[in-house]
Order: sequence, then structure tokens, then C-alpha cells
Amino acid sequence: MSESSSESPSSPFVVAVGELRPGDQRDYQVEGPIDVALDSGRIKNDVKFSFRVSSLSEGVVANGTGTFTATLTCHRCLSEWEEDRSVEVIQVYEHVPDEDGRRLEADGTIDLEPAVRDEAVLDLPLAPLCRPDCRGLCTECGTDLNTDPCSGHTDESDHPLAALRQLLDPQDT
Ligand SMILES: [Zn+2]
Ligand SMILES: [Zn+2]
Repeated sequence: MSESSSESPSSPFVVAVGELRPGDQRDYQVEGPIDVALDSGRIKNDVKFSFRVSSLSEGVVANGTGTFTATLTCHRCLSEWEEDRSVEVIQVYEHVPDEDGRRLEADGTIDLEPAVRDEAVLDLPLAPLCRPDCRGLCTECGTDLNTDPCSGHTDESDHPLAALRQLLDPQDT
């Protein structure tokens, strides 16, 4: 299982804009997978990106909207749900990019994927909540307190750490 296919050389997010002359504009639509997987959420399906490329003397500007479905994970109870999200992307591509820019390749192609990915990552909430008053999980037994009001853990012997506590502090019984 050591065989791993390298990234596809023909990413749908790489588009040829070399034939555009300064002042030209052209609309594009691409669709493909973008791998974003954070603890708080991930992109579930292919990302659709509709954008306009405007050609300038030094390069091009791509400006458009990416849409995708995200799977979010509640940071209190760890339940998952899906949400449709959209991000606005504007990115300059130049033959000699500055620090904020990206490269317009010598073959006249630009790669939208990093720009769309950056915006998608920023768009995902850092600490999603399944609902504002999510009660989370019992810190002792892991019961989902939204569906099961954990009866509590008054009986110390039920506690998974009880044995450990006794080892650490035998007086405390
Ligand atoms: Zn929750
Ligand atoms: Zn509990």
C-alpha cells in the first residue's frame, strides 16, 4: 500500500488565461475537490467556483464566488451537521508576484485552488455549536447531555479514575 498517486497535474482549478489581452475579461466556472479538514469542520463535496478574470498589464485578477457543503462538528457535543457555505475570492496573479500575490505561470495558467482553499479555511467557524444552548458531553462519562441528563456520579466507585485516585492518594477513600 505504499503506492500513492501524486496530485493530478490537470487540476480543474488550473485555468489558462494566457490568451487574454490587457483589458479583457472572461467568465469561468470550475468544480473540483479541495481538501480542507479541520477539527471543527471539513469540506464535504466538490467546490464550485464561478469567477471572472480581468487581464491587467502586469497580470490578471480573479474575482468570484466559491460554494461548497461543509460538515461541521459541534465543539461541545461532537455531533456533526452539514451547511452550505459560500466564500468571496479575489486574487491577483502576476508573472512576478509580490508577497500577497500569486504567480501567473509562464504557460499562461493560474491556479485558483490555493486562493479558494484559503478563503474556505477562513470561512469555517473555529468553534461551531450545533445549537446555541448545546449542553455538551458529561465530562465524566461522555454522555450527550442534550439527549440524556446524566444522573451524575455520586458513587465514586463508578468513576473511571477512582482506582487511579486511590493509587495516587490511598488516604482519600
Ligand atoms: Zn452540540
Ligand atoms: Zn456522566
